[in-house]
Amino acid sequence: MSKVVAIDGPAGAGKSTVARLLAERCGFTYVNTGSLYRAIAWRAFAEKADIGALSPEFLSSVDLRYEKGVLLVNGVDPGAALRTPECAAAASRIAAQPEVRKFLLPVQRRTAESGWIVMEGRDIGSVIFPDAAYKFFVTASVEERARRRMAEHPDGKLSFEEIRKMISDRDHQDSHRAEAPLRQAEDAVLVDTSHLTIEQVVDTLCEYMKKNPKE
Ligand code: C5P
Repeated sequence: MSKVVAIDGPAGAGKSTVARLLAERCGFTYVNTGSLYRAIAWRAFAEKADIGALSPEFLSSVDLRYEKGVLLVNGVDPGAALRTPECAAAASRIAAQPEVRKFLLPVQRRTAESGWIVMEGRDIGSVIFPDAAYKFFVTASVEERARRRMAEHPDGKLSFEEIRKMISDRDHQDSHRAEAPLRQAEDAVLVDTSHLTIEQVVDTLCEYMKKNPKE
């Protein structure tokens, strides 16, 4: 058993906030794996690499490490640059490439070497840590996820319909790729957050963990 709370699910389901708050409550380390894919996309933009087919040479030039919980990409903290819609869309494209997933596998596994972590992504319970102590699949309807994105960026230039389409395109791309498609692991607990507040979701996860103690 790996000392991992795996939280998987589609874009915009509230995974990041839930995972961060859960980690805080439990005193575990929080790891957001989407940032790793975004970090590679960010480097690819900088190097003008071919986003559609990243070369082994390019990948071996990317150095990803955590320092005091901060992700450093070739020694630099990219900060908000990773959160742009362009970076998200490029991350989703490169995430379909088997070489990229292979490259990121050991990077992700290493993060669990020094104690309990809450790790959030798409394939944590299914591929990265099939033996995770806890597995949750956190989701919500596309409309609800689009509504939340709108509320997060009230001054954004995109309409509700545009955001809804972006989310649903990304769902499609993430669930239909050949390599590690987004899917609920058989032994993961499904949590539909459409009608729950963030606090209620965190409570649900905490209660489940209390009722099912490990070690
Ligand atoms: O979670 P986030 O939106 O930051 O992820 C960006 C993209 O990275 C996702 O759309 C997905 O394609 C990819 N990803 C993935 N596996 C993960 C985390 C993210 O394929 N574990």
